[in-house]
Amino acid sequence: MGGSVRDLLLGKVPKDFDVATSATPEEVQQVFPRCRLIGRRFRLAHVRKAGALIEVATFRAADPTSGDIEKLNGRILRDNVFGSVAEDAVRRDFTINALFLDPVSGEIRDYVGGYKDLTERRLRLIGDPEVRYREDPVRLLRAARFEAKLGVKPDESTEVPIRKMAPLLKDVPPARLFEEVCKLFLTGHGMRSMEALQRFGLSSTLFPGLRKGSGAGKIHLGVVLRKTLENTDERIRNSKPVTPAFLFAALLWQPVSETAGRLAEQGDSDYNAMMKAAEEAISAQAVRTSIPRRFSAVTRQIWVMQTRFKKTRGKRWKRLLHEQRFRAGYDFLLLRAQEDPSLEPLCEFWTKAQEGIDFSRRGAAGAEPRNRPRRRYRRRTQSG
Ligand code: ATP
Ligand code: MG
Repeated sequence: MGGSVRDLLLGKVPKDFDVATSATPEEVQQVFPRCRLIGRRFRLAHVRKAGALIEVATFRAADPTSGDIEKLNGRILRDNVFGSVAEDAVRRDFTINALFLDPVSGEIRDYVGGYKDLTERRLRLIGDPEVRYREDPVRLLRAARFEAKLGVKPDESTEVPIRKMAPLLKDVPPARLFEEVCKLFLTGHGMRSMEALQRFGLSSTLFPGLRKGSGAGKIHLGVVLRKTLENTDERIRNSKPVTPAFLFAALLWQPVSETAGRLAEQGDSDYNAMMKAAEEAISAQAVRTSIPRRFSAVTRQIWVMQTRFKKTRGKRWKRLLHEQRFRAGYDFLLLRAQEDPSLEPLCEFWTKAQEGIDFSRRGAAGAEPRNRPRRRYRRRTQSG
């Protein structure tokens, strides 16, 4: 339902299938005893079938006035009053996400004009946009994401309130915003997501520590960040892995490099300056989006490596080549050189330094800790 019907109609391959049903999560569990019931704010069942994970949600009631629902200043904290399919449709966010495929008749059920909006490539929030954004401010980001991902354009009533409602993002749990940032930037349309966020004036709320750009709610988009977003999109087109660690290294590089530069001028060692700057930038961002430690640790390593790359005399530089994050740090250096040509000799040095080293055998050579699976960014399903 929702996203999968929409994607099928657009001729895209849905990344997952969400199922909506009149059965309660407990009833779903009776049919699929091994499913998992998840979520508190939005309870649903996770059913595994043939290796695929299917999210099974019970139809929500249209205007729940009692029961298991909880609101704070218009924000929905809990939503577990069950209803009919037609009621469920109007509880969805955008009309194009509210299409249901009836598995028995094979018909598409459209209660909100989503089919027409989809054919006209229009993104329209169901109901009163301000009320709907207040209920769940993540919808602000979802508007940007669907524009970027699907090429749909928000209609005026959906787009106009976004700018002024941006501060509502401050009330969203940072862990949920981290998931949303990953969906925005690590699923193949990162550059377009950034453009949409900028146009909607959402980026400065999402990334509060970054230098402001020209225009309300915008951030300054440096070369490193721009190139990273482009490269990430390219990597996904080529089915290469991507990680939030590198993304955040690029996102926060502007404040990190500026703070580190200032601290070094004031007498800190390069290393200490970088460590302090990293701490500052990561804490400033953590207020808005969490950055799980397994990623922020790597982000830090990428930054610290930038100071270590400068030390090319003596013998110690060779050790760097065999460190786990060398490739990420080196790629980051190359991006920086596109902004700052004075780094080119350094890039050449490190490019030459790698000649004759077979990085594909690094694991076998013991540079990477053995028996530890490399952790990559895993997409987790978000509830509702
Ligand atoms: P994606 O392609 O990213 O999976 P999606 O539309 O399937 O996009 P999901 O987060 O998987 O997004 O949600 C599935 C469906 O649940 C949506 O299509 C929408 O109908 C509904 N939904 C999801 N999040 C919200 C929300 N914040 N408010 C209202 N309805 C939502
Ligand atoms: Mg989905």
